[in-house]
Amino acid sequence: MSCIFCKIINKEIPARILYEDERVLAFYDINPQAPYHILVIPKKHISTLLELEEADKELIGHIYLTINQISKDLGFAERGYRVVVNCKEEAGQTVFHMHFHVLAGRPMDWPPG
Ligand code: AMP
Ligand code: ZN
Repeated sequence: MSCIFCKIINKEIPARILYEDERVLAFYDINPQAPYHILVIPKKHISTLLELEEADKELIGHIYLTINQISKDLGFAERGYRVVVNCKEEAGQTVFHMHFHVLAGRPMDWPPG
């Protein structure tokens, strides 16, 4: 498996891991776009949001609850945060293992670029 995020899950390449359980992994983005920039990924390899299946519904809920918990633990829950999922190339996806960007710690522009 050549997927870079699967390699992070399998500890074949290092990452600054914040949280891990049997279903998800959260780690700091290597190229942060905000004071806080965290990636939350399922341990199951799902290449894009479009590949989600009915059986993944509970997993998605778990990812969002994990994001909430991280925001409280790191102290940016009160100010707020942005969650971004880029789906396929035109949206800016470069790593084809579905991931949720969590951005916080500065005002966010809208619309995004
Ligand atoms: P996307 O462009 O939405 O596919 O986002 C991929 C993200 O993964 C980018 O923000 C990258 O900076 C980040 N990234 C790529 N490789 C690594 C890595 N080895 N460790 C942490 N983050 C990474
Ligand atoms: Zn993967």
